[in-house]
This record gives sequence, C-alpha cells and structure tokens, in this order.
Amino acid sequence: MRIYDDVQLDYCDVLLRPKRSALASRSDVDVLREYNFKWCPRTIKATGIIASNMFTTGTFEMARAMQKEHLFCAIHKHYKVEEVIRFLRKNKKEFGSNELVFISTGVSDMDYEKVNQILQTKLVANICIDVANGYSPYLLNFVRKVRTAWPKALILAGNVVTGDMCEDLILNGVDIVKVGIGPGSVCTTRKLTGVGRPQFSTVIECADAAHGVGGMICADGGCTVPGDVCKSFCAGADFVMLGGMLAGHAESGGEMTTKIFQTGEVNIIDDKHCELALVEKQYKKFYGMSSAYAQERHYGGLKKYRASEGKLVELPFRGPVEPTLLAILGGIRSCMTYIGAKRLKDMPKCSTFYRVNRQLNTIFGNE
Ligand code: 5GP
Repeated sequence: MRIYDDVQLDYCDVLLRPKRSALASRSDVDVLREYNFKWCPRTIKATGIIASNMFTTGTFEMARAMQKEHLFCAIHKHYKVEEVIRFLRKNKKEFGSNELVFISTGVSDMDYEKVNQILQTKLVANICIDVANGYSPYLLNFVRKVRTAWPKALILAGNVVTGDMCEDLILNGVDIVKVGIGPGSVCTTRKLTGVGRPQFSTVIECADAAHGVGGMICADGGCTVPGDVCKSFCAGADFVMLGGMLAGHAESGGEMTTKIFQTGEVNIIDDKHCELALVEKQYKKFYGMSSAYAQERHYGGLKKYRASEGKLVELPFRGPVEPTLLAILGGIRSCMTYIGAKRLKDMPKCSTFYRVNRQLNTIFGNE
C-alpha cells in the first residue's frame, strides 16, 4: 500500500494571480482557438467548451445553442440512429458542417454497430467514447477498433485521471483524453467507491502527459462557475466539458415540474377574507448518467450487480442557455486580460496560481 504525499487540489483550492499586461480590454483577446490533432487530420476553429454527453445536456437543442457561440456538444447516446442522422443532415444545412458535434458511444458491440451506421453517412466524424472507468481494457480495445476502422475520425475518450493512462490512450489512437473521475455535480462515485482525484491536480498532470505525446485533454466535470472553466484552461485543459452549468435550461433534457410555494405574505381579498400568497416555480430534472433514475429510464432498471453512482436533483428552471454561455465566454475573456493571455492557447503559460484557504466571501450567500 502506498500513499502519495503531494497535496491534490480542486478548482476551489486555487486562485489566479493577476499580472501587468498590455491587453487593454476584453476585445483584445481571442477565445477562438485553432485545434490541430494527433490523429485526426482536420483543423477546427472553436472555443473548447463541450456540452456533456449526458441525457440532460447532450441534446440536439443544446448542440444548436452551443454551435451558435462556436462551442461543441457531445450528443448523448440514447437517441435512435435515425434521429441522429436526421439531426446531422439538418444541422449541416444550418451550420455548414457538423464539426462541432460529437456523437457518443459506450464500448459494447451494439454501440460499435451504431457508431458505424452513423459514421458511414459521412455526416460526422467526431466520436466521444465514454466509460465510467477508463482503466478498463474494454476502452483501449474499443479505441483501437474505432481508430483502425476510421483513421481520420476525431476521437475523444475517457475517463481517466492519471498521466500514464492518458499516454496509453493517445498512443492507441485517441486525440483528446477525457479526464475526471468523481468531480461531477451529480456524481457519487467518490462517496460510493472511495475512488477519484481532485480535478485541478488531475488536469495539470494529464495535460502535461498528453501534450508530451502530441495529444490533448478535455477536463470533464467539477466546474461550478465560469471561474472554474478559466482555471481549467489555465491548468492546461484544451477542452472543458460541462454538465451541471448547462443543466436546467430550456435546451436541456429532463422533465419539467411546477411547484407551488407560500410566499409568507397574505393577500387581502376584502374586509373579511384574506388568503396566503402563493407563487409557482418551475424546475427541471438533472441526473447522473449512472444514477438509479437514469438506469430506470434508459436501461430498464438498476441491475443487481451495478451500483448507482449518480444522483437526481431538481434545478430551478433557468430559461434559454445563451446568457449562461455568454457569461462563461465573458469570464474567460476577462480572465485572459487579467493574466495577459492574448490567445486561449496561451492561458497556461500566462498562469500563476495561489493556493488558497478560502476563495469566496459568502456572507450574503453563495450566489
Ligand atoms: P459537471 O459538469 O456536472 O460537474 O460534471 C459533468 C460530468 O459528470 C459528465 O460529463 C460525466 O463525466 C460525469 N457524470 C455524469 N453522470 C454521472 C454519474 O452518474 N456518475 C458519475 N460518476 N459521473 C457522472
């Protein structure tokens, strides 16, 4: 048994140090990056934020909203093949290409069939291969199989949290390794299994390892505010995947519910009558892809041998996602001016972090 003594950090354990810079305003910085990959021969110009391939965030509607801001979406794998193809045809007409869309897959033979059916249309060539435990030999085998069949595809695969496994995946055909085990907002893996690694340290180690062999990483999970997305890019992430920050919007999947609350005030009706004032609030369900709720919904029930490693929450409905996306992009631009990074790609080399005990003043709440 071994214990690593180095302190492992989360986004909330650090803050960025501002620097004197020649950048006068947010308009002096460029959040679009030209991405070139190890295996995929295409160049894609975009901002590396990806809507997670969760049922609640990897929707067609979310994809449309993300692309409008030059951001990516990983479509969840629970759509039927025909539905995905229909969407891709329409999307190609609207945006000129599907280069900002990933299709998602697990590693079963059925998943492989589905991926092939979609890729054969030539409408899309970006694949997100997602398993909870990226250390399983099934992932490497699946990656090799897909890379051999589709040498020019853009492959995003994970999840892992250590440099050695990032290197292995990249050398076997992955372009972008998805990193993060347990940081997610509706993930209970750490509680249930005791396995995981704080996300900020994960990103630093994995980015270094991946870049060393010509690959890239996508930091998946754990971002709660735009500042966390900035810290992730600064730590070396080439892409950042978001679930919770994009959940609860009009474009998100998940059932809507309405609840009625007493406001605590009283409405006077006339001299003799009054009533308690009520207010209606709308909520949208958001849940982990391995939560009991998701397994009931998408896999016909929780199998006896499978643990539920996710939870179900109800979020206050947040309306259209566009203002949220603009707030995230605004945060990144502002961060870049604070640290003197003209290009998104320059963020890590312009970054110095403070390790902190406390990052927010919560006297008036956490908002
Ligand atoms: P968030 O941005 O909400 O913090 O994290 C989103 C990420 O959480 C997803 O992209 C995915 O990697 C992870 N995730 C989603 N559902 C589950 C789940 O049920 N269990 C676990 N362990 N992780 C999940």
